[in-house]
Amino acid sequence: MASARTDSRCLSCGFTAASGGEEWAEVEVPKLGRLTQCPECNSTNVTSGR
Ligand SMILES: [Zn+2]
Repeated sequence: MASARTDSRCLSCGFTAASGGEEWAEVEVPKLGRLTQCPECNSTNVTSGR
């Protein structure tokens, strides 16, 4: 049960929150589409769960 939900983690500052959660910001990038952005350091270098 503990592994039912996945977390995303910022590789730059280590911020962690639920994947797709409201904690994360989102940015639209041409060609790449929607990326998850860290609210702490504004990095898009974020692991997407899993
Ligand atoms: Zn960060």
